[in-house]
Amino acid sequence: MTTFNELGLSTSVLHNIARLGLHTPSAIQAACIPAILSHKDVIGIAKTGSGKTATFALPIVHKLLEDPFGIFALCLSPTRELAHQIAEQFMVFSAGTNLRCDVIIGGEDLIGQSNLLLQRPHIIVATPGRLLEHFMFSADIVKCFEKLQYLVLDEADRLLDVSFEAELRYILSNLPRLRQTLLFSATVTQSVTALQSLLGKGTFYYEDVGTSKIVLRCEHLYAFMPERIKDIYLIQIIRELSVETTRMVVFSSTVQKCEMLSQLLSALGIRASSLHSAKKQRDRCGTLSSFKNGSVKILVATDVAARGLDIPDVELVINYDVPMDYRQYIHRVGRTARFDKSGRAVTLVTQYDVTKIKSIEQNIGHQLRQLTLRELHMKHLVSEVFAARRLVKLRLASPAGLNEKFRSKRR
Ligand code: AMP
Repeated sequence: MTTFNELGLSTSVLHNIARLGLHTPSAIQAACIPAILSHKDVIGIAKTGSGKTATFALPIVHKLLEDPFGIFALCLSPTRELAHQIAEQFMVFSAGTNLRCDVIIGGEDLIGQSNLLLQRPHIIVATPGRLLEHFMFSADIVKCFEKLQYLVLDEADRLLDVSFEAELRYILSNLPRLRQTLLFSATVTQSVTALQSLLGKGTFYYEDVGTSKIVLRCEHLYAFMPERIKDIYLIQIIRELSVETTRMVVFSSTVQKCEMLSQLLSALGIRASSLHSAKKQRDRCGTLSSFKNGSVKILVATDVAARGLDIPDVELVINYDVPMDYRQYIHRVGRTARFDKSGRAVTLVTQYDVTKIKSIEQNIGHQLRQLTLRELHMKHLVSEVFAARRLVKLRLASPAGLNEKFRSKRR
């Protein structure tokens, strides 16, 4: 088994690794860190929670300490929360040094960010939309990237899909060609494969093929119910499973539903908080930190929380809506059972979802097992949940116009 000492990392980086209590590199770390240190472009595909962030952050910090200058590395992330999380990891891996890492994401002050960029910090972690704004706004900012050594695309399959295409093309055309490009993802899409040919011959490709696409330490369950009474099942599942669960994430497919569910839970006396794109960035950060510090046990989220977020002790993921495809299933469910922990995922399946769930099972090569619930006290539950739902619907339709605000956003 490889040790961190054998990967070619400097003593100060090794010191921080030891301080964090990391003993053995994961498979992707053992394979990709030496390749990155030997100047190769890298594509790394491994299931979620397998230590991908350290795989690129450790060698970048190592190289930066040899010759620190800014802007040395740019790391792109599809979501704002993931950007913050990546920056936090850079900070811990470079603790005790003077390396500076800044986050450039939407929903925050544009001018303040411009000033930060012009000071050329060593590492920038950004979401593509906001970085594009800076690039279009100022040639001086583009110039700050002229010596860039590393470009990292985390959750690369999401960054390379059509919704980010224009932004990414503009950003890439403004970066120096002579650099190392590192791509990481839990799922492979055609765009990732296409990029492999673009990166050139020397690209180091690592795919964790020996194991399943999903985390097998996670128990994959489903509950079948008529669409009409889905909320009732959700409440019953939460009440039953929350007794033995520290933290759980409930995924829904739209912002409006996400907000409705979170408020429904609160109206029923179950403390929950919502995370979606219609919330102010300040509130999104607040929600995430109360979830991380344990003051809120249930996070109701859209797919903004499905990618890469590493929240310790999430023991249960509930798919209120069946994921669109198996990739989305892998990413959502990957919020539990991280690294060597175990977890549970329950997907709510109605009469309209049978084909979708069969296709997910086929693609992940694993059959979901039926969740057995204690006897439902239907009559009582129906009146309790329906009354709470009426209240929430009225609240959301109030002059505050929340419904309008949430309708326009999908994630
Ligand atoms: P990531 O896939 O980067 O989100 O990492 C998932 C979790 O695994 C994070 O909490 C990391 O701190 C942790 N981790 C990363 N590398 C290792 C390692 N070699 N040994 C133990 N835990 C690790």
